[in-house]
Amino acid sequence: MQYGRPDGTFDIVPPVPCGRKEARSFVNDSACWLHVESVFRSVCKTYGFAEIRTPIFEQTDLFHRAVGDGTDIVAKETYDFVTRGGDRLTLRPEGTAGAIRAYVSERLWIERPIAKLLYIGPNFRYERAQRGRYRQHHQAGVEVLGASMPSIDAEIIDLAVSFYRALGIDDITVKVNSVGTKESRASYLDALKAYAEPLLGEMSDDNKRRFEQNPLRMLDSKDKRDIALLQDAPNLIDFLDDASAEHFAKVCQYLTDLGIPFEIDHRLVRGFDYYTRTAFEIQCKVLGDKALGGGGRYNQLVEQLGGPATPGIGFGLGIERVLITMEELGLPRPSGNQLDAFLCPMGDAARDAATSIASNLRKAGLSVDIDYMGRRLKAMLEMADAGGAKYAIVIGDDEIASQTAAVRELATQSQQTIPLSELAMLIKG
Ligand code: AMP
Repeated sequence: MQYGRPDGTFDIVPPVPCGRKEARSFVNDSACWLHVESVFRSVCKTYGFAEIRTPIFEQTDLFHRAVGDGTDIVAKETYDFVTRGGDRLTLRPEGTAGAIRAYVSERLWIERPIAKLLYIGPNFRYERAQRGRYRQHHQAGVEVLGASMPSIDAEIIDLAVSFYRALGIDDITVKVNSVGTKESRASYLDALKAYAEPLLGEMSDDNKRRFEQNPLRMLDSKDKRDIALLQDAPNLIDFLDDASAEHFAKVCQYLTDLGIPFEIDHRLVRGFDYYTRTAFEIQCKVLGDKALGGGGRYNQLVEQLGGPATPGIGFGLGIERVLITMEELGLPRPSGNQLDAFLCPMGDAARDAATSIASNLRKAGLSVDIDYMGRRLKAMLEMADAGGAKYAIVIGDDEIASQTAAVRELATQSQQTIPLSELAMLIKG
């Protein structure tokens, strides 16, 4: 009996050994993941962010409160379960709710007036699985808590753009909008409902439900007919309160000052109820209508989750979509961890000695693998090549007797015999 992967998931495995023709797609290749994650961490570091890791499940109620009952994610997509102890838990569908819950639980505001947090991890949504949309997907994201100035909104968008550019993804579109405050949204919602009501008969069932439960979400619809029907709907930014309008104008000004091209998208409301003021999304043509990443400001969320009134802003970006984009754009495949040396022991004495020779080299900081299989020299040299090793170290009975090794540089095929004690120094170069 063999077991398959659950629908909408995939395995991430080591890269195909060097020299093999078949290539693995970037999303399946662990070297590609490590590269993207490490670029994300290092770009975040330059903006002063520190890492946070939270549980992959939280109380179900957290997501109902934070993300919102009327959102598609909570209404249709969460993985909910009851534990043996009777607790109602949910696999996290997004990163912000858990990060804010942790900010409140750990009282981070006491140590950091402004907390700049980054996270990387899996999220779970019961969606119709397809390329770029999975049931387990991974997001890298950031949250800034304690700062309400518009320059922070621009800084966060700048961080996201810098990250994509650092990976070589240049051709991106930044879309921004403002969803105002809860109060200013109320008058917009009246206008939106008045506009949509006569058209409801022609809208999708989902949008009929949204009209009743959470009308703003109608603008999220991916249904082509809904999109066309809502084409001339009133615009949110015409209903903003003065402070939100000023905030939005300043965000746009900062983006211009930073040299980040952007578009104002009046239909952009994002799939969560917690957003206030700035909402943004980043797209790349190769992904079609699927966003590379998105985020926004949430000035009420910390308080809503039991913390002190604290403004916040963040974004999340899908790592799978980053990898798909890199591959579609033909960007070079990030290479895996290449070996410095591959040990080729010939004969029992050499095989016995190989473990401690390799151990000494590893203690000197070198990455070393060994042939464990007693293969012939030719096969061992092929293994060394496949591992991308710089050197093959050949040891036979003679070398053991004289405490030496034959070191072959694989790129040039040049070979020399040196004392074992000088091996690490030679390989380090
Ligand atoms: P969201 O949390 O819905 O705002 O999504 C943020 C980003 O996560 C999106 O722009 C995508 O890059 C990614 N994402 C969201 N849902 C999925 C999914 N089901 N599969 C793959 N990536 C996703």
